[in-house]
Amino acid sequence: MFTDDTEAVLHSAAALVNTEPGASRSDEDELTSVEDVAAFFTGWAYSGDLLRTQEELDALRELRGELRAFFTESRDEIAEHVNRVLAESHAVPRLVRHDAYDWHVHAVPGDAPFAERIRVETAMALADLVRADETTRLKVCAADDCTAVLVDLSRNRSKRFCDVGNCGNRMNVTAYRARRANAAG
Ligand SMILES: [Zn+2]
Ligand SMILES: [Zn+2]
Repeated sequence: MFTDDTEAVLHSAAALVNTEPGASRSDEDELTSVEDVAAFFTGWAYSGDLLRTQEELDALRELRGELRAFFTESRDEIAEHVNRVLAESHAVPRLVRHDAYDWHVHAVPGDAPFAERIRVETAMALADLVRADETTRLKVCAADDCTAVLVDLSRNRSKRFCDVGNCGNRMNVTAYRARRANAAG
C-alpha cells in the first residue's frame, strides 16, 4: 500500500509510543534506561548514531507524547503538524542506500539526535498518508483499558485492537461473559 520504509517507520513510531505505561505489554513504562533505547534501536534496525546517554533517553521519552498526538489528530491537523516538524528540523530530504535497504529517503543526517531522526522520519511517512488520504489508518486501541496505538494496514481498515495486549481476544471474552450474564440474569 505504502512503500516498505514508510510502513516500517509508522510501525516503529507506534512501537515507541507503546512503551508508555498503559500501552505497553507489561503495563509499565518500558523505556526507562539507555539499554531500552539500544534495544529499540536494534530491534527496529535503525541506522546512524546511538549515543547511549541519559539525554538521548529523555528526548525519546518526551517524543512519545508528540508521536501519540499523530494517532489522534485529524488529517488537517496532521498536515499542519508535519509541516511544523519539517520546518523546525530544517529537513533536507535525500535518497540514501545503506545496509540491506535499497534507495529510500532520509531527511536528517545520521549524526542528528536519535529522537530528532525519528521525529522527522515519522513526519515524512505521515506526509505520504496525508497525500493518500489514509490518515484514519492511525488508531488508538478500542479496548477501554488500553491506550496502545496501532497502524491499521488491513484491506478493509477493520482493525480495532492493538497487538500489544492481545486486546481483541480479551474484549471478545469480556463481551461473551457480559452476554452470558445478561442471559442468566
Ligand atoms: Zn535508512
Ligand atoms: Zn490494546
